[in-house]
Amino acid sequence: MAELHEACGVFGIYAPGVDVARITFFGLYALQHRGQESAGITTGDGRELRTFKSMGLVVQVFNEEELSFLKGHVAIGHTRYSTTGASKMCNAQPIVVESSLGELALGHNGNLVNTVSLAEQLEESGERLETSTDSEVIARTIATAPGLDWQTRIQNSLPRFQGAYSLVMATPNALYAARDPLGVRPLCVGRLNGGWVVASETCALDTVGATFVREVEPGELLVVDENGLRSIPAVESTNRALCIFEFIYFARPDSSIDGRLVYQARQEMGRHLAREYPVDADLVIPVPDSAIPAATGYAQESGIPFGEGLIKNRYIGRTFIQPDQRLRQVGVRLKFNPLPQVLEGKRVVVVDDSIVRGTTTPPVVSLLRKAGAREVHMRICAPPMRFPCYLGVDTARKSELIASSMSVEEIRKHIGADSLGYLSLEGLLASAGMHRSHYCRACFTGIYPVPVQLEMDKLVLEV
Ligand code: SF4
Repeated sequence: MAELHEACGVFGIYAPGVDVARITFFGLYALQHRGQESAGITTGDGRELRTFKSMGLVVQVFNEEELSFLKGHVAIGHTRYSTTGASKMCNAQPIVVESSLGELALGHNGNLVNTVSLAEQLEESGERLETSTDSEVIARTIATAPGLDWQTRIQNSLPRFQGAYSLVMATPNALYAARDPLGVRPLCVGRLNGGWVVASETCALDTVGATFVREVEPGELLVVDENGLRSIPAVESTNRALCIFEFIYFARPDSSIDGRLVYQARQEMGRHLAREYPVDADLVIPVPDSAIPAATGYAQESGIPFGEGLIKNRYIGRTFIQPDQRLRQVGVRLKFNPLPQVLEGKRVVVVDDSIVRGTTTPPVVSLLRKAGAREVHMRICAPPMRFPCYLGVDTARKSELIASSMSVEEIRKHIGADSLGYLSLEGLLASAGMHRSHYCRACFTGIYPVPVQLEMDKLVLEV
């Protein structure tokens, strides 16, 4: 499944005596799945900030030379997929802004829904925006907010931001982290060598050897400096709206969110699917990688053997090299290769995480049939996606979402499957584990947790 893109991954560390740039590099490496367009790290050494960022994967952006340039005891890092602003170098993060208090670096995961009005207010007060991202709007709003110190300026600014934000910020002396009052995107905090680490997902804490402490609470601002960690309830949090797609697709299966291991939530989705859409079949296979846990759950619940019928090129990243005409015709095989010896003559249940535009599923079904599958029964770990996301996920416009204009039966015919079953919203919510009011599920229901400007364009700030 390659139709949905997460907005970003963020990482931050305050740890005197530790090579914070190197730790941040490996933190970002663990968060690569959240954004593959650009990566960057800013460090603070008590006097100044140093930043290095570029287009590409984390391993392509950094080498030893850059890491040794990034000195200090505080660092933030960012991997980016664009939801507001085009994919280009000037939009890479961390974003660094100047103010009367000195420099502030900022990395953002999420999407604001009031970017335009905030940008207008900044321009009216004489601020000039250099990028086309809502993240710069956030950074400049904080930099120009009233207050004699950064904590006050951040506290004064956070209530003005509407939408989704998990933020990491650095000054030469301190690390700050904040999460929007709905808690749309995950953010957690851990300990490392007497210092503190924040990250989009717990898998990044594990990777750098940090110990998970807790989630950053919705509406909370964390300040870490020479006096240790302070928690400030910065914005009142009355409703929760954690993105349910973190469980379906975005988060790594070895991450835990709200105490729930994502792997187990996905397995449970598969079990629910098996109960909701049973079928006589010989084999259950996943569309790798994200649907593997759900396919094992389907197999366990149904008693149908689990197998692998599609092998994914695991080394594929975001490439800026376009395939030529002949390779385009090979299409989906650039990503998946089927195993005819496994599929030949079988009735196959294929578990996938979601269908968004409906462009990638038909070639997968056709590939399986060509490899000898006798029947192909698609099972999807999410309900039909009928509404776009405005909170940090690049879904598609409503008109591009296949389920917004086709019934399930029409989609089944379109993708060429023998049967098609979408997990119910109830089954999905039960799999994630918390009460339904805990989650944003707007892309299925059209009921958004914040007022949104319909059909907002991700390039809204492009000139
Ligand atoms: Fe997540 Fe969908 Fe809500 Fe966007 S609309 S935050 S993808 S649940």
